[in-house]
Amino acid sequence: MSSQDAQVCRGAVYTAHDWMRRTLRPGDIAIDATVGNGHDTSFLANRVGDNGRVYGFDVSQEAISATERRLRNERLFRRVTIFNTGHENMEQHIPDEFEDRVACIMFNLGYLPGSSDKTKITRANTTERALNSSMKYLTVGGVIAIVAYTGHDGGQDETFAVRSWAMGLDQHKFAVVHYSHLNQQNS
Ligand code: SAH
Repeated sequence: MSSQDAQVCRGAVYTAHDWMRRTLRPGDIAIDATVGNGHDTSFLANRVGDNGRVYGFDVSQEAISATERRLRNERLFRRVTIFNTGHENMEQHIPDEFEDRVACIMFNLGYLPGSSDKTKITRANTTERALNSSMKYLTVGGVIAIVAYTGHDGGQDETFAVRSWAMGLDQHKFAVVHYSHLNQQNS
């Protein structure tokens, strides 16, 4: 990811955080479907407070270690449970009692920023499975925030798949909003 991509990515992530900031309340449950370096996990853990809970997923041990370090430094570790598995398996890990009870679910797609391992990348078909699973947990008034990138191999397919998925949601139940950076390529 170039530094330009990184800046654009932060812009999109800020927008996602804005939506979630307006939704999350102390005591809420949240899911970070791609913990990466833990920025979003930390954001969510801060918002849910001591009585809330964040469940995180990542397939990369490097990402999980970085996130655990961050959460310990920020004294947020107690609020978070991280699973070293793909988000497409979330139904095997999130307790059934949280069906219809999760306030925010964040997907920050692509690969781990700063990592040399470009094999652990989110992909259209597993992302779509995970998105379908997340619907089971989302509460009324909750938010699923998805940040998708087109600049890497497979990114365009994945972004297209996410867009089609979102466009297919029942308009009587979901409001789908799409932001894009009009003056940037590859983002
Ligand atoms: N939210 C992160 C950035 C995420 S980068 C942050 O704030 O730093 C995307 C992450 O998705 C990478 O860490 C990558 O390992 C992870 N990933 C790739 N495939 C995945 C899958 N199937 N399930 C969960 N995470 C996956």
